[in-house]
Formats: sequence, C-alpha cells, structure tokens
Amino acid sequence: MYNIIKKYISDNTGFLIRLDDIAENMNWDMMQKVSDLFDKYQIKPVLGIIPNNQDPELFSYPKKNINFWEQVRIWKNKGWEIGMHGNNHVYDKSCPKNDYLGHGGNSEFCNHSYEFQLEKIKSGLNKFKDEKINIRTFFAPNHTFDRNTLLALNQCGINKVLDGYGLMPYEENKVNFIPQLFYKTFKLPFGIQSFQIHLNYLDKQEFYELKNFIEKNYKKFITFDQALSKVNNNLSYKIIRITTEKILKIKRIISN
Ligand SMILES: [Zn+2]
Repeated sequence: MYNIIKKYISDNTGFLIRLDDIAENMNWDMMQKVSDLFDKYQIKPVLGIIPNNQDPELFSYPKKNINFWEQVRIWKNKGWEIGMHGNNHVYDKSCPKNDYLGHGGNSEFCNHSYEFQLEKIKSGLNKFKDEKINIRTFFAPNHTFDRNTLLALNQCGINKVLDGYGLMPYEENKVNFIPQLFYKTFKLPFGIQSFQIHLNYLDKQEFYELKNFIEKNYKKFITFDQALSKVNNNLSYKIIRITTEKILKIKRIISN
C-alpha cells in the first residue's frame, strides 16, 4: 500500500518553468544563461512570446542582432513550448478583481468586448502564422483575462492556458488549465507546479537560486505535454483548487 501511494505521489509531482515577456527587446544576457542551464539539464520551459510587443516598459531592454522569429523556431525545435503572452502587452484597462482568476489590476484583455478581444487574439496568432509557427497555448499579461478571452481563444482553436489555481491541470470552459501558483522556485511534495520567471527582472541572486533548485531537482522537471497528460477533473483536486485559490486570495489581501 505504501508503495502504491509513493508511486501515485511521484507520478503526479512535477515542475514546469514558464518564462514571461519573451520579445525582441529583453534581457538577452539572462536568456543565454538560463538557456545554457536548461540545455544542460534537458529542461523544456514554456515561453510566453509577445507577438506584437508595444509595451513601452519592455522597449527599454536591448534588441539582439538576430532574427527574433528564427530564434523562436530554434526554441520550438528544441521541444520548448511556444505560447502566446498577450498580443501587444499594453495595459489599457484595469479590472477591479472581476477577471477570471480574481487577481484584479491592469490588463490587456479583461473588460474589453468579445469582438475587440477576438481581434487582438487573431492579430497575435496571425504573427505566428506568418512565421509558420503553430501554437496551442496562451497566458495573459498580468494574469488578467475574462470569460470573453476564453471564448475568443476557443474560437481561434487555442485551448491551453498556463495559469490558474490548484495542484493539477484541469479542464474548464473547454480550456485545459495548467496551474501557475508560484513566482519563485518552491517545492510542494505533490502536484504539477509551474514557476513563473521574468528574465528581465531576474537578478544574480535569483539566478543562483534557480540554478541550485534545478541542480537538486532536475529529475522532477516535466514537459508541457506531460503536464497536459495530467488533466484531471477529479472532485478532490477541485477541492484542492478552490482551497489554494482561497488561501492565495487571502494572502494577497494581507500582503497588499
Ligand atoms: Zn508579461
């Protein structure tokens, strides 16, 4: 019995890395450092590519003298998951916690009409299409999106979202959600756990912590496909999801 439980926990525990704000302008030096680390340990992250970046803050980072989309194809060929991280990453709305995950804050999508969001998503996807890169995954800038975003994504055939609460991937509104709970490498004894990394803000100490974590735990890293194979709408996982959502919302209220 003990062995069965041990196997169950082991089969359902795995780490994923999500890299945000991948665009022409970014911290390329840090990208090189983490790429070397990922290659050494065969880690395949999920990249959040901004297809039509117009975010003035991100323009302050350097461009590299390469064809950006050629680089995206190189990453894809390595088995890295290419996701769409918004369309232009410009926050022109704010949401008073009426977004899908109840985060609140600035948004590129939330509170825009369905038609407007559909156009935004089509515009982003067209860029990938022009570059002959097939994608299936989305995550919104600042984690803020709403039901209309999901409807528009569905309409465009995108049905994987790397965001949300819980410890197991699940399906809701015809979308597979892979939960994204942590902003730092942090280990729970159970669950599919994804860590969000903003390369642009990653300092030396944080890189060192990431490197250490990977060196100790690289065997527990999984691919995006492996995470998707764990999509599970089991009731007990739903209870865990609602519980983590409540805990994190309370934690945010306390820390704000
Ligand atoms: Zn972002």
